[in-house]
Amino acid sequence: MSELTENNNDKLIIGDDVFVPFLTENVIQNRIKEMADQISQDYKGKIPIFIGVLNGAFIFLSDLIKNISINCEIDFFKLSSYGDSKISSGNVRMLKELNCDVNGRDIIIVEDIVDTGLSIKYLEEIFQTHKPDSMKVCSLLMKPESIKYNVKIDYIGFNIPSKFVIGYGLDYAQKYRNLRSIFVLSE
Ligand code: 5GP
Repeated sequence: MSELTENNNDKLIIGDDVFVPFLTENVIQNRIKEMADQISQDYKGKIPIFIGVLNGAFIFLSDLIKNISINCEIDFFKLSSYGDSKISSGNVRMLKELNCDVNGRDIIIVEDIVDTGLSIKYLEEIFQTHKPDSMKVCSLLMKPESIKYNVKIDYIGFNIPSKFVIGYGLDYAQKYRNLRSIFVLSE
């Protein structure tokens, strides 16, 4: 597929896989506004640092902070866990460290999706060693049935079934992150 056309009623056929529309741009944006309002209220009088987990969370983080009404800072952290596979490998590697000093700061880890919880658990352990004042986790999507690790997600956009999703930052072998809506693998 050389051209990417997106129509909310269209299926996406990628090799042998068929993806169907799941969360529209409108639904995603409305929910992000609600999440941003809640975070702005919770952090009133503070200047939190949003830490986006690359690559998947960059679009979500960008839309989220555009709706945040208090002062805030951002940074990015890069992990690798899935490679090009649709199933979690169970391994996490750090590919990019933070640039900012989170010591004594209020940090909010921003993920695109929480599946087994391994990435979040790993990040929480790393960031805890930098002694932030507080640490919360915000994820656009969460697959509650897939959770294997004991993690608390403070802000959840949507709880979804344990199916593979793409679009809005989420990739299929590194592609399709630029879709404005989210598609789910049809079985
Ligand atoms: P966890 O460490 O919680 O098992 O997995 C989190 C990471 O796995 C996410 O940041 C994301 O990169 C990837 N991931 C989990 N589920 C999906 C999915 O349905 N689609 C895509 N594209 N990536 C996923």
